[in-house]
Amino acid sequence: MNKKRIEELTREFLEEIGFDTKSERLSKTPGKVALMLEEIFSEIKKDPKEGINVFKTEVKNEIVLLKNIPFFSFCEHHLLPFFGRVHITYIPQNGIISGFSSFVSIVKNLSRRLQLQEKLTDEIADTVSEILQPEGIMVVIEARHLCVEMRNERPGGTEVITSSVRGKMKEPSYQERALSMITPKKTITKPQ
Ligand SMILES: [Zn+2]
Repeated sequence: MNKKRIEELTREFLEEIGFDTKSERLSKTPGKVALMLEEIFSEIKKDPKEGINVFKTEVKNEIVLLKNIPFFSFCEHHLLPFFGRVHITYIPQNGIISGFSSFVSIVKNLSRRLQLQEKLTDEIADTVSEILQPEGIMVVIEARHLCVEMRNERPGGTEVITSSVRGKMKEPSYQERALSMITPKKTITKPQ
């Protein structure tokens, strides 16, 4: 990433909108933006599977859930953040699992790009599937989108929920159990 060039372009971009980048308040902003972008997008060329360790265990757990992995990303249509939590639930094949930090690292790598929530959900499911070859997997993402909330003046807190389901997790019995692990039963209401 050419930081100097990004700094110049940010200055031009702000000027074009109508901000005075020569003013005391904004003179350092383009440099700070360039630094921040370099930090946030530092992993875009890295393979999300890099450095991920798997373990062969004797565990007979049928469903493993990694709940509430925090993330932030940028909407590829408006370059504004969307952010929330990722839940990854899978059925290990032959006891093959991975550590919590591996999942955090996959989520971080795939989210710190220009993304769509639907695509991010699929990419996490595909990457974990490639690494662990689980019998089934379901990834659920709950997120708030600033491009929706800021532009349409919707009340803050509206969440978009997406899911990707593969393999055995498509079977209703597994899916129901996985969902009840993600969402505590007390909040599930059944029709009378
Ligand atoms: Zn958007």
